[in-house]
This record gives sequence, structure tokens and C-alpha cells, in this order.
Amino acid sequence: MGKLLVVGSVALDSVKTPFGEVVEAVGGSATFFCIAASYFTDVQLVAVVGEDFSPEHLTALQRDRVDLNGLERSSGRTFRWRGEYSHKLNEAKTLDTQLNVLETFSPTIPESYRAPSQLFLANIDPDLQLRVLGQVKRPSVVALDTMNFWIEGKIEALRTVLKEADILIINDGEAQALGDNRNLVQVSRIIRSLGPKTLIIKRGEYGVVMFHGDAVFALPAYPLEHLKDPTGAGDSFAGGFMGFLASASALDDQSLRQAVVYGSVMASFAVQSFSVDRLASLTDEDVKKRYMDFSRLTTFQV
Ligand code: AMP
Repeated sequence: MGKLLVVGSVALDSVKTPFGEVVEAVGGSATFFCIAASYFTDVQLVAVVGEDFSPEHLTALQRDRVDLNGLERSSGRTFRWRGEYSHKLNEAKTLDTQLNVLETFSPTIPESYRAPSQLFLANIDPDLQLRVLGQVKRPSVVALDTMNFWIEGKIEALRTVLKEADILIINDGEAQALGDNRNLVQVSRIIRSLGPKTLIIKRGEYGVVMFHGDAVFALPAYPLEHLKDPTGAGDSFAGGFMGFLASASALDDQSLRQAVVYGSVMASFAVQSFSVDRLASLTDEDVKKRYMDFSRLTTFQV
């Protein structure tokens, strides 16, 4: 049976927030995604690292439910991202992006990955996302993420990927840029006319809104007293969301709503530490407990 396949970046991130900083810690869109999804289902990873990606770096990704056969090692340096957050933790200021081995990466999907049950095209060059779509048997769900870097630089390729996608998961600023409109309800109509039937807009500390058919579902972010680093929140959300959907093998309104809650659970853990430290060291109990906390947080009587 097919598994959840993700293609994205594996990175060395240097991040500064008002609560501290890390230099060249393991990050990347596919990294956060895989770790979050592995609490729910088996994941297959396709990504590239350079010669400088050490065995210690690799340990972050070595998990029972993560298949690393599709992790390529190329000559050159690993992708690097450097960012900073002010007290306005919703907005990362990108200080430097060094594509390095990502610049010449041409994903080759291993034979055993070519019939996935679900596919997540994490934030990566849309041309690469297209190349992946061309190599796999169409799964029941294709979801993708993107960012301003690609909306500004590769809009035509991105439009082609969007036509093939069932679900788009992006943050509010990116949705507004892609829809060329500030009103998120109008943006949802515009973006969904480009392809994806379901649009999930991440709003950082304000939570998340999902537009699906005629339904709109909104969930606040988990109220945390201490937050260290928002990097990876979006990818961890996507990992929890897709991981739950894969384990539920369903795509009805109820499952999508539960998946949004599990996504928010994983994002809330990711932001409690730098890099993947907290996200990678959870128990199933931790995940369940926070899911129940969300239930209490949002229950009311009508
Ligand atoms: P987010 O979940 O949106 O906070 O994503 C953070 C991750 O995205 C970081 O770990 C970065 O390494 C990665 N990232 C940043 N810029 C890019 C890019 N242009 N392409 C691929 N990955 C990126």
C-alpha cells in the first residue's frame, strides 16, 4: 500500500528570535513535515543534502516511521536559510537564502515511492514540485505549500502546480500575495479557482482558517505562555494535518477538521523550542493530551 510522500527542503537554519538564537541547526520544510507526520503514519522523504550534512544532523531525521531512502547526498553545501523574528513573531525576516545543493537538485523518486497514498509538496521550487508530480502515480491527495520567494520568482510554474493540487496550505501574507487581495474570503475564492478545492490559511498566533466546499472552519492557535522560535510551525502543521489524514484514510469534512486540529497541535509543539528539539521528542500521550486541550479550548454551547 502507498505511503505519505513528501518532497521539500532539508536545511541548516540560523535563526534569531527575541528568546535566543541557533546557528546552522537542522531545519527545512521537509524535515519539520516528516517529524510531525511520523507521529501518525509512515512517511517517505525525497530531499537533498550536501557533504557537510553530518551524521549528527541526520539523527534528527532517523525515526522508525521515516524512510530516508530518497534522501540524496550531493557534492556541495547543504541548503541554508537565515532568518530573524522581532517581537512580532508572525513574520520571519529572511536575511539570507543559500540554495546550494538545492540549486541543481532534480528529484528522482525511488521506484518504491512511485505510488504514494498521499503527496505533500513542501515549500520548494515549483519547477521541482512539477518534476515530482510527473514521476508519481496520482495519489488520492496532493497538497502543497509555497512561499513569497516562489510567488514572486516563479508564478507561472506555481500556477501549473496549483492546477494539479487538491489542497493548498499557505500563510495569510502569501495567500494575500497569491490572490492579489487582502480579504481572505475573497482570496479563498480566487485561489480555489486556480485548482485546489481546499485552502488552508495559516495565521500564525491567530490560528488557521480552512475553506472547503461551502464550509469554513477556523481554529485558534494553542495559547502558549512561552514560545521560542516560530520556524517550522507551518511545516509541522502540514505534517500533523497530512499525517492524520493518511492514518484516517478519509477526506470528509469531519476528518479535515480533525486534521486541522492535529496540525495545530504539532505546530504548537514545534514553536516551543529552536530547531526540531521539542517536536522530535514527544510521546503519543503528549499529542493526545494537547488534542484534548484544543477540544476544551473550542467547546461552547449554542
Ligand atoms: P515555516 O514552516 O514556514 O516556518 O518554514 C521554515 C523552513 O522553511 C525553514 O526550516 C527553512 O529552512 C525553510 N525554507 C526557507 N526558505 C526556503 C526556500 N526558499 N525553499 C525551501 N525551503 C525554505
